[in-house]
Amino acid sequence: MNMRLVLLGAPGSGKGTQGERLAKKLNVPQLSTGDILRSAIRGGSELGKKADAFMSKGELVPNQLILDVMAERLAKDDCKNGYILDGFPRTIAQAEGLDKILEAANAKLDAAINIDVKEEEVIRRLGGRRQCSKCSAVYHNEFSPSKKGNICDKCDGELYQRGDDTDATIRNRLKIYKQETAPLIDYYKRCLKNVDGVGTGDEIFKRICSLIGI
Ligand code: ADP
Ligand code: ZN
Repeated sequence: MNMRLVLLGAPGSGKGTQGERLAKKLNVPQLSTGDILRSAIRGGSELGKKADAFMSKGELVPNQLILDVMAERLAKDDCKNGYILDGFPRTIAQAEGLDKILEAANAKLDAAINIDVKEEEVIRRLGGRRQCSKCSAVYHNEFSPSKKGNICDKCDGELYQRGDDTDATIRNRLKIYKQETAPLIDYYKRCLKNVDGVGTGDEIFKRICSLIGI
């Protein structure tokens, strides 16, 4: 289905998990800037080197760098019929940049979905988060462990704890989220859908689907 969606929400609110489900159901790509940057870091590219310095501290990668990456990505063929944006835009400047990209393509966002989760809950979630180094699948030590321990259930890749999922960095990311990203909830008010982000993955997915009528 032809849809362009933005996922908003604090780090650990479940954007990645829900984005993956939405992408499958709508048959459009899920574009996670976090995953794009992490894979650039692993690949050792110029982009990766620049991004790493910011990400490891829990700071935002500069707007222009992100906008260049996303302008290029959104111009690819697989984005023609829509996409799920997960982790982008993250600042007002990025949202304005996205508006320009959309305008140039004569396209419009269908909705911005804000996944609402309280700060204490987010801190609990991020501390136990583990991610697959091969396919980026996300697990949680306590809430959704892999059946194979430290190995990915889906692809047998090794699971790791992200360098930015440590206490001090988590607090910094939440502070930056409040300052830089939370204002997007107002920026997108004309197409905003607020969803309660507490519950099972299935429950939250159902809420989202009914909000956007799919
Ligand atoms: P989370 O949402 O849990 O923080 P992400 O994987 O989306 O995880 O992002 C991890 C890090 O990647 C961020 O803390 C930031 O350093 C960088 N990053 C991702 N997306 C953006 C973006 N749109 N603008 C700037 N930095 C970004
Ligand atoms: Zn995997």
